[in-house]
Amino acid sequence: MSEYKSNKSFVLRAVEDVVYEERPVPELGPDEVLVEVKKTGICGSDVHYLVHGRIGDFIVDAPMVLGHESSGVIYKVGSKVKNLAPGTRVALEPGASCRTCDACKSGHYELCPEMVFAATPPYDGTLGRYYKLPADLAYALPDNLDLEDGAMMEPLSVGVHSVANVGGFKANQIIAVFGAGPVGLLCMAVAKALGAKRVIAIDIVQSRLDFAKSYAATDVYLPDRPKEGESQIEYSKRTAAEMASKLNFPERGLGAIDLVIDASGAATCIQTGVYIVKHGGTFVQVGMGNAEVTIPVTIILVKEINFKGSFRYGPGDYPLSIGLVAAGKIDLKPLVTHRFAFDDAPTAFDTTRKGKSEDGKAVIKAIISGPE
Ligand SMILES: [Zn+2]
Ligand SMILES: [Zn+2]
Repeated sequence: MSEYKSNKSFVLRAVEDVVYEERPVPELGPDEVLVEVKKTGICGSDVHYLVHGRIGDFIVDAPMVLGHESSGVIYKVGSKVKNLAPGTRVALEPGASCRTCDACKSGHYELCPEMVFAATPPYDGTLGRYYKLPADLAYALPDNLDLEDGAMMEPLSVGVHSVANVGGFKANQIIAVFGAGPVGLLCMAVAKALGAKRVIAIDIVQSRLDFAKSYAATDVYLPDRPKEGESQIEYSKRTAAEMASKLNFPERGLGAIDLVIDASGAATCIQTGVYIVKHGGTFVQVGMGNAEVTIPVTIILVKEINFKGSFRYGPGDYPLSIGLVAAGKIDLKPLVTHRFAFDDAPTAFDTTRKGKSEDGKAVIKAIISGPE
């Protein structure tokens, strides 16, 4: 008899076509660990693959196991693994880089061209019983964190990477975050944890702003709607001016916005962000939305804005995420709004896609358990 239980997995076969499939248990290399997956959060990208079958150049053309925001318990370790043992609860960093290319060796492994990333075609994700990964990408959870916290380390690390690492955010600075979805909220939480003087949340949905205010924002802003015949740029410029006067922040110096994070991907948010960030400030794009956007580039030039992209997470981001939560500086619990059994994964995806459950409750993060 096999030492393994059924490796039932949740597989995307094609657009709008998901099934449960029995998958072989992965063979373990000497430096790898096999994890029994316990909790998996659903991400916008998982839903995007389900609905569109692709994200940019990543195209689902063969069946792929979904899921990449996971935690679990170590089931087995490779012969050379010393720091982890079966039974240890871990958060999974779901991207294994090559370790030898220029990106990897220069400390930017998130840019590795050979990246094997869970649920990014052609690689399988974590929504099965067993997932294997290099041992150094399985982070032991401190005793005061549970497995749901562990699953949330993935989206939190996206926030940590964009705010702390790419954005270089420091204590007593001011941040504005466009988009109060899961990633935007986590960016706000990171800024608050790092000692932000002011955390400004911008969204077009009042209820999301209400949550942001209760969670990590000091100020919230609901932009006016575009006027009839107003161009995107005109609208963004007007919104920026209205924000500055209503929230009372200057264009430069003390009290000005040091860092703008766009977690929305919307053209007008990106433009407005460029208009509101201070002279010499930093703008970080983390939201994936419009692929091409008109940007007021002269403003970037004259204000010497550091205009940067933030992709997934890199060295140090998982440890900082775990550290901030373990120290009680970030509370992930309020973000987990929905929970589903493994057999209800289709409903979990459907609920995330609709943005609310049957009872009308808004989804921030839905988590799937198991398989049991
Ligand atoms: Zn994700
Ligand atoms: Zn590499």
